[in-house]
Amino acid sequence: MKDSTKMVFRLHGWRVDRALHNYLYFVFYDTYVKGALYLTKGVVALLGRFSPTRHVARFIFDRYHAKVLSRGDLSKILQLEETVDLGPDTTGRIIPFRHANRIVLREPTHLAVMDCPCKLELDDPCQPVASCIAVGRPLVDFWLEHCARYHARRINREEALDIIERHRRSGHVTQAFFKVATGGSMGVICSCCPRCCVSMRATALVQRIKGAEGMSQYAPSGYKVARDPERCRGCGGCAEACHFGAVEVREGRRAYHPERCFGCELCVERCPEGALSLYLPEGGLLPLDLDLVREALAGGAR
Ligand code: SF4
Ligand code: SF4
Repeated sequence: MKDSTKMVFRLHGWRVDRALHNYLYFVFYDTYVKGALYLTKGVVALLGRFSPTRHVARFIFDRYHAKVLSRGDLSKILQLEETVDLGPDTTGRIIPFRHANRIVLREPTHLAVMDCPCKLELDDPCQPVASCIAVGRPLVDFWLEHCARYHARRINREEALDIIERHRRSGHVTQAFFKVATGGSMGVICSCCPRCCVSMRATALVQRIKGAEGMSQYAPSGYKVARDPERCRGCGGCAEACHFGAVEVREGRRAYHPERCFGCELCVERCPEGALSLYLPEGGLLPLDLDLVREALAGGAR
């Protein structure tokens, strides 16, 4: 057995079912993701009008989901030198899901990229297809040993940041994925759009289920957007950048709906006038900001 396979079994302790799930998930990445999407489509088509179906969706979403990252928070993750291991007691306000809610970044200077399984599912996906980034040595070693068919390769920080920056410039949201299959913790950072990303497509499908209208497979970053009215000239760039319908610009007048905003920061980067900025509102979800995480590690969780 390969060392990285043994690592997977060690990670899950006695839960052989979860270790196998983890193994199969990455070894058959595209087949798994495609199967999950078709299953969701089938369930929504057949059972979507029955309200109890929302419990099935909740069961899955608690175990597999994403946290939207601002550019600054992403940067801090890619600059991380030391291992971070935080359990649900300190992450409840960052990752508001029941089962997959640990921030574990072991030996985080190890990075790898491979083909995104969501993009492999499409005939004409956004480019480049290689956009899933593994952070931390255990997952990187596993990908390098098992995922040659997805062109897994080691990268450095500059290349990781470059891949994500290119995607952000073409309107892709940066997300960290958490799942029970990887020990309940974060492992992969990806660049997502509603057309390619199976997580975003599954969320749109599940929201058609009776009683599941607000359910989402991705958690907001925690930030909201402030606008400087002196600078804004009503060009509409921010509305075009937003995938979540949180901004509308009509006849030069901008309307912002904070309850729909996921704090992805794409509009801030798109604004040609520098009129927008992120802020952290009181009492909402906390961002996956490693400075806050360090505070939590030091015993100062907010
Ligand atoms: S992109 Fe900037 S300048 Fe244009 S409408 Fe939005 S906030 Fe105003
Ligand atoms: S308003 Fe801006 S930060 Fe909020 S979701 Fe839309 S693009 Fe992202």
